[in-house]
Amino acid sequence: MKISDILKESHKAYPSLEIVPPLKGMSREDLLESIRPFMDFDPKYINVTCHRDEYEYVPNADGTYTKRVVQNRISEVAVCAAIMSKYHIEAVPHIICAGATIEQINQELDNLYYMGIDNCLALRGDCLTNEKRFTPTPGGYAYASELVEGIRNYRREETGRHFSIGVGGYPEKHFEAPNIETDILNLKKKVDAGADYVITQMFFDNEVFYDFERRCREAGINVPVIPGLKPISTARQVHMLPESFSLDIPVELSSAIESAAHDKEAVYEIGTKWCKEQCKDLLRHGVPAIHFYTMGKTRNICEILKDCF
Ligand code: FAD
Repeated sequence: MKISDILKESHKAYPSLEIVPPLKGMSREDLLESIRPFMDFDPKYINVTCHRDEYEYVPNADGTYTKRVVQNRISEVAVCAAIMSKYHIEAVPHIICAGATIEQINQELDNLYYMGIDNCLALRGDCLTNEKRFTPTPGGYAYASELVEGIRNYRREETGRHFSIGVGGYPEKHFEAPNIETDILNLKKKVDAGADYVITQMFFDNEVFYDFERRCREAGINVPVIPGLKPISTARQVHMLPESFSLDIPVELSSAIESAAHDKEAVYEIGTKWCKEQCKDLLRHGVPAIHFYTMGKTRNICEILKDCF
């Protein structure tokens, strides 16, 4: 079932869950067991992130180097297949422009089509760890809006609109954008290209989301905007999350966590409680769904789902 139809038909807000494919070496059974606790909440679908290949340079005996692809994780397509066959729910693979040509992306769409997947989240992806700015792959897409257009045109003549497409939005603006207004105009390009809904980057202050949602509506973005949440689970994340995702953590939350930093369980509880409060407030506000960045954690997410949905 398409996410766009789920969004249209749901009378009540639902949780949307995102997982990261396991590192190579973890078995299929371990992965499926790790997400089993989520099944108690009857999720409508699970998003699976996509990770671009990284490279390493291996020295040769003659002093030259050989470039080698490093793929640390199982592919999102394989993880989607495992989830669908075990739990009989929809899986939503993320597709990124980074590191792929249009031909390779079309090959991936063929695989998804063949597997009976009709949803995806279209993203640009980030630069390589040793790059300062994103460089499009020769023969690839430069922006997610181009990817959305490409996916929208996939098998258009036979199937009309095969994929329901989600895109990313940034309540605190994408770190490369000069200002939030420009970033929202760029978000509108993705919606105009055919995106059905937006999932936001995580945020820790709901007022930031409400302001973003208002600006989106004013800019003419009329598709559902799904807020993204992540409960903080370690003291380190207070520094790591702003650094990795260019976001703010309210002082009330950061100081509570820092003063409990010596007690792992206390930190976990503070992060979970904060997220629960955010979640309840968003539900009162009338959001269509809430997206959880689970990042390999189940206990805190299940506790939040139990309390809020
Ligand atoms: P875009 O929409 O292309 O925007 C990137 C930047 O370019 C922005 O600053 C935007 O303002 C600007 N821009 C856009 N269009 C134009 C234009 N036409 N002209 C000039 N500037 C423009 N990353 C992964 O690698 N794998 C994942 O699985 C993954 N999942 C994610 C899930 C969610 C819900 C979110 C919010 C992000 C996810 N990301 C993932 C991270 C994402 O790839 C990065 O944030 C990336 O830097 C931007 O992706 P985007 O799709 O928002 O890019």
